[in-house]
Amino acid sequence: MKKKKITIAIDGYSSTGKSTMAKALAKKIGYAYIDTGAMYRSVTLYCLDKGLIEGDTVDETALEAALPKIKITFKPNEEGRSETYLNGKNVEKDIRSMRVSDKVSIIAAIGFVRRDMVRQQQAMGKNKGIVMDGRDIGTVVFPDAEMKVFVTADAEVRAQRRYDELRGKGDTTTTYEEVLHNVTERDRIDTTRAESPLRQAEDALVLDNSHLTFEEQDKWLIDTFERITKAKK
Ligand code: C5P
Repeated sequence: MKKKKITIAIDGYSSTGKSTMAKALAKKIGYAYIDTGAMYRSVTLYCLDKGLIEGDTVDETALEAALPKIKITFKPNEEGRSETYLNGKNVEKDIRSMRVSDKVSIIAAIGFVRRDMVRQQQAMGKNKGIVMDGRDIGTVVFPDAEMKVFVTADAEVRAQRRYDELRGKGDTTTTYEEVLHNVTERDRIDTTRAESPLRQAEDALVLDNSHLTFEEQDKWLIDTFERITKAKK
């Protein structure tokens, strides 16, 4: 008998490697993967390019009017890896820049932006068989998800990982201190905002990966998935 598909929600702090683990898990179990952070990042990139952000202030009236014109899609590249498109343009690299990271939590705190993204995310996951990562997936987007993981790690470990990633992508100017500041600042805004703040769902399993290897983490995820789907049969 074919196994019943479930919904997997992976939430947690910035730069905990949620996307990497979610992607690997989805590939292994044949599920679709959605990176919801990429959606908030795309809206932020749109706002920056259109001059809708001045310091920490957003022109919310203009953004609300523009929202229906912001089309975010995902398409696999030649290696089969999902990449983000904003109005038809590949923005996968641009949305990971510090320029976007510095403003994304401000955009993600806006209620009408969240409601629009959540609606799209719920539509993408309505048939289950999905791994979705973000901040509010297990609490708001799919509160009934059968598997919920809350990922955490020491801030210094997370900053070092993000710093190494930026260096690997050719960014030679951003310092470790700037990355650490960005990571802790995003955590602060994400956990204290009024609209669906980042918090651990009561029924989420905590995964602290400060000292785990990729292999240990992947094994933990797959074992958890097997246990939950076995119990569901
Ligand atoms: O996951 P990632 O670090 O790419 O997300 C970028 C930002 O988008 C987060 O710092 C957070 O402010 C916002 N976000 C959110 N809700 C989600 C996913 C991301 O508020 N579901």
